[in-house]
Amino acid sequence: MNKKDLAYFHTLLNSQLQELQNRMNYSDIRKMTPLDEFQDVLDIASADTDQNLLLRIRERESRLISKIKKSLQRIKDGSYGICETCGEEIPVKCLKARPVTTQCINCKMKEEALERVSGI
Ligand SMILES: [Zn+2]
Repeated sequence: MNKKDLAYFHTLLNSQLQELQNRMNYSDIRKMTPLDEFQDVLDIASADTDQNLLLRIRERESRLISKIKKSLQRIKDGSYGICETCGEEIPVKCLKARPVTTQCINCKMKEEALERVSGI
């Protein structure tokens, strides 16, 4: 990968990381009215669902954050854009679609096929 592309992904990943971290902080602030403040059972139910949803979103976001951090690390050590599995270069257009990807399309598809077979 050339320096220009690398700089592009570095900037992109950094701004995504920033945005995610800001959002995480924001959801901390407005987080979760304690359940016993709700009088109505329906309120409790919906608050519970909101909390579950929020937790799921946060879980996904924190997974993404760690992927972005890993990608930034890979940019630093020069392995960014190289497939973790086969060592081939991942096409820039694939990286643009999904900057945190660590596998080329072929390995990714093989892995997904395996996951489907083993039922994970
Ligand atoms: Zn590969």
